[in-house]
Amino acid sequence: MENKIKANNNILELIGKTPLVKLNKITENFTGDFYAKVEAFNPGHSSKDRIAIHIIEEAEKKGILTEGSTIIETTSGNTGFSIAMVSIIKGYKCILAVSSKSSADKIDMLRSMGAEVYVCPAHVSADDPRSYYQVAKRLHSETKNSIYINQYFNELNMDAHYRSTGPEIWEQTAGQITHLVACSGTGGTISGTARYLKEQNPNIKIIGVDAYGSVLKKYHETGNLDTNEIYPYRIEGLGKNLIPSATDFQIIDEFIKVTDAESAHTAREISRTEGIFVGYTSGAAMQAVKQLDELGTFDKDSKVVVIFPDHGSRYMSKIYSDQWMDDQGFLEANPVEAKQEIQF
Ligand code: PMP
Repeated sequence: MENKIKANNNILELIGKTPLVKLNKITENFTGDFYAKVEAFNPGHSSKDRIAIHIIEEAEKKGILTEGSTIIETTSGNTGFSIAMVSIIKGYKCILAVSSKSSADKIDMLRSMGAEVYVCPAHVSADDPRSYYQVAKRLHSETKNSIYINQYFNELNMDAHYRSTGPEIWEQTAGQITHLVACSGTGGTISGTARYLKEQNPNIKIIGVDAYGSVLKKYHETGNLDTNEIYPYRIEGLGKNLIPSATDFQIIDEFIKVTDAESAHTAREISRTEGIFVGYTSGAAMQAVKQLDELGTFDKDSKVVVIFPDHGSRYMSKIYSDQWMDDQGFLEANPVEAKQEIQF
């Protein structure tokens, strides 16, 4: 036995190289083979670890960040957690400006990871000095040696996935991938991954998943931002009410929209059938795959990769709470599952 300790030097070394897992039961009656890229295997439990480390290390290379510097972002979600995690190991201060709509659980989670969290009023417009955008901008301009991650408008977001997620999927599928199905929020994941994959094989179809209530699909089809498309929806991290420059709309072949209710049920179904405990947007991505299969998009030789962005544990008080599902009217929408819930 070799007497060398096999340990990672720190938690950041575990970012990326996430597994690709074949889906079996949920896709039983579908045409083609289906594989999930399970991003919850990142140490921060989501794909956002990839962008956090990449953006921070690029700033280090440029000499903008040095020990004790400050990293600022406007997010209560996965990106905040990932930035906080990277900041701990690298010795930076992490400031997150979040909306007062964010749940107490999320704010506590970010503070547990050492972040300084500014809770800003949700009801004010984006240009109000009290809004989380303006608070972040002000803190950035007032703080020497700070960076503002600004994930929706940062080209390094896409670049992180071009350098990691894309090559991993190409290698894991031995170049046989025919379709990529991925949620689009900032668009970094789908755009960067697609750019790498299409460079290897331009015939690979890239399908973006959008929410009803978001402008992305319509913008892709018309080139116009249609504000009539905007209304509130439940899925977090998917879709947007503005056009992010971190999305390369040219490289995406089509967008498909999914509902809050079906995405929530599909996430629960993935957990129950495949034993992969996934977040809400994984349900959305899989729901898109279901719809695409019904539309006859795939054939028997299709090798479809679907990205599962994060872990189910972040949604215990939402999609995995029967009470929450009932309050949304989602159980009524699916009588089969509603019946099962009563039997439990
Ligand atoms: N799912 C979840 C849970 C997310 O937090 C995000 C990021 N907003 C996405 C999907 C979409 O990823 P991207 O921002 O790279 O488009």
